[in-house]
Amino acid sequence: MSPQSVDKLNGAFRGQLIQPDNAAYDSARKVYNGMINKRPRLIARCADVANVIAAVRFGRENNMLTAVRGGGHNGGGLGICDDGLVIDLSRLKGIRVNPAAKTVRVDGGCVWGDVDHATHAFGMATPSGAISTTGVAGLTLGGGIGYLTRRYGLTIDNLLAADVVLADGKFVTASANENPDLFWALRGGGGNFGVVTSFEFRLHPVDTVYFGPTFWPIEESGTVLRAYQDFIQQAPEEISGFFAFLMVPPAPMFPENLHLKKVCAIVWCCTGTEKQVETSLKPMRQVGKPLLDHVAPLPFPAVQSAFDDLFVPGLQQYWRGDNFNELSDEAIARHTEVGPRLPTMISTMHLYPVNGAAQRVGKSDTAYSYREALFAEVIVGADPDPANNEKITAWCKEYWEALHPYSAGGAYVNFMMDDEGQDRVRATYRDNYDRLVGIKKKYDPDNFFRVNQNIRPAG
Ligand SMILES: Cc1cc2nc3c(=O)[nH]c(=O)nc-3n(C[C@H](O)[C@H](O)[C@H](O)COP(=O)(O)OP(=O)(O)OC[C@H]3O[C@@H](n4cnc5c(N)ncnc54)[C@H](O)[C@@H]3O)c2cc1C
Repeated sequence: MSPQSVDKLNGAFRGQLIQPDNAAYDSARKVYNGMINKRPRLIARCADVANVIAAVRFGRENNMLTAVRGGGHNGGGLGICDDGLVIDLSRLKGIRVNPAAKTVRVDGGCVWGDVDHATHAFGMATPSGAISTTGVAGLTLGGGIGYLTRRYGLTIDNLLAADVVLADGKFVTASANENPDLFWALRGGGGNFGVVTSFEFRLHPVDTVYFGPTFWPIEESGTVLRAYQDFIQQAPEEISGFFAFLMVPPAPMFPENLHLKKVCAIVWCCTGTEKQVETSLKPMRQVGKPLLDHVAPLPFPAVQSAFDDLFVPGLQQYWRGDNFNELSDEAIARHTEVGPRLPTMISTMHLYPVNGAAQRVGKSDTAYSYREALFAEVIVGADPDPANNEKITAWCKEYWEALHPYSAGGAYVNFMMDDEGQDRVRATYRDNYDRLVGIKKKYDPDNFFRVNQNIRPAG
């Protein structure tokens, strides 16, 4: 990358080109996970699709390792790279709701808080994740698991079309009718196939929901896990709630006697009527002796940002995960042994239910393969202090190793770190892997887009 080539790019660039000597460089290279400290040579903060096309061509012409940054939230820091080019979409923030068609068009730099804010004005939402600062692009391209999964499917099950800048700089649209092979691969295959500059999603009537936790003493976690597994398999699809091991934050919303206490919990988020929710949750509320039970009506965007103050940008984070078809008695025994050893206040383990509507899509209908799984597990070691990095990483790995033998074999791609190796990527896609390799060969034969959970064109 010569100064002349950067000058040439700059000539027609409406966004910002940020190099190490620029005052904005250190803030521009920060990503959500404070453990990631990468130093790219150039950050191309694009203002429009034309800039994205120019940046892709620049990366190719200069033979640069190129990362694509949506929300910068990826646990493994896959939205940034060392010594290369970062195509940063954070200025692409347009959103247009079409209330008549019940769809929303979302630019590639939006985060979910932007989308929920825009669609809530129309009493609608599309399924996403559980933290409002997560990027739409990375979450969607990996699959998208959240509170609405049981009722309306994964985020990709609601994706109708995507605009994509390919590795050769060409712009295409992918949908069921246009470039259907690319559309198939984008639904779970991550950032392997191009830069998505805009997404179109289906919307559903979601307005006020019933949200809140039930906490149980950590000693009751085996009983709760067993009951929860039975419960969530037959609960109406309006009912959702993820299981967690957590330490109660010392926040005014929780009774003081629970502050910093380790508990097991279910965090509920239910659509449907109040009566239906009350009736449906009753059997779980009768399990053991809950320490706290507080489910109340809340606007959906408030639910989506309920954990934002806890999971703030800059925390040190180490993640691991797997998919589970069931939790055997031995698996539950391992959970109750390792889970309660939470190493820090923010560290946690979540089991997200991925049954219901998400299971009505076939294993090979999209690149996302684990349609028969009941739970997507994520183990999160997190803390503000880098001095605890070893502690949170060791716990996370120990927990994963204890449970992996009972798993379905692979993880949800967005709950993986960048150091898990190619076998884990294959295990994520299983029988869909070879088809993904074929589509990669067609759209990105030189593996230009490789800062991701990589599908290698050579197989
Ligand atoms: C606190 C926290 C909570 C989370 N909760 C959930 C959850 O509830 N549900 C869930 O499903 N996931 C969740 N995730 C995981 C999340 O889905 C991933 O971290 C995801 O990668 C974030 O997307 P991003 O755009 O912010 O990431 P980035 O770091 O910007 O990018 C991640 C990957 O996506 C690629 N990419 C980004 N933008 C584009 C684009 N426009 N075109 C092509 N490729 C692109 C990048 O190249 C990179 O490989 C959570 C993550 C965190 C840190």
